[in-house]
Amino acid sequence: MRIVLLGPPGAGKGTQAARVACRFGAPHIATGDIFRANVAEGTELGRAAQEYMDLGDLVPDELVIAMVMERLAEDDCEAGFVLDGFPRTVNQAEALDRQLARQGTPLEAALSFDVTEEELLRRLAGRAAAQHRADDAEQTIRHRLEVFAIKTRPLIDYYAHRGLLVNVDAIGPIEVVTKRILDDLEGNRRQG
Ligand code: AMP
Repeated sequence: MRIVLLGPPGAGKGTQAARVACRFGAPHIATGDIFRANVAEGTELGRAAQEYMDLGDLVPDELVIAMVMERLAEDDCEAGFVLDGFPRTVNQAEALDRQLARQGTPLEAALSFDVTEEELLRRLAGRAAAQHRADDAEQTIRHRLEVFAIKTRPLIDYYAHRGLLVNVDAIGPIEVVTKRILDDLEGNRRQG
């Protein structure tokens, strides 16, 4: 299963990506987690990414694209992948399409997580308190939501035009949302 997850920060992508990846035996690739690990280890990539992350801005496309393409070339991705937090720009989506076309392994679905802004702000405030994520501080949360609206939301149309978009109602208990996703994906597979 080769899928990408789209949604604003706080939509529950990380939680659901892990569960869906486990169900399909495919790696869960979360670009935010990879960047945070690089920051923690003090790598060159981490140093380059940190200032953008702290401000709630996107890391430049060329850095993100190179990192993801390298990750997708690893052996475990032969089983597919669940990409969480990538793509976030049309440029990134096009780079992914080109790479998958070269490999002859096209994307199967783009899941778009629908959550109201009120619910997002509530969840992000909770996560800031629980995990001490610098970029969940109140002043950067709104900025990250704006960045999503401007740079990432256009991907919803991008994938809709390609017939890959699956809208997910992401409000509800974790297990219920997972079941909605799996039912949709398995339904898609049966049709395909
Ligand atoms: P996340 O954990 O997915 O919310 O990502 C945390 C931060 O990492 C984001 O606010 C960005 O600064 C950076 N980041 C993660 N994925 C990407 C991406 N695909 N493109 C650009 N920046 C990203």
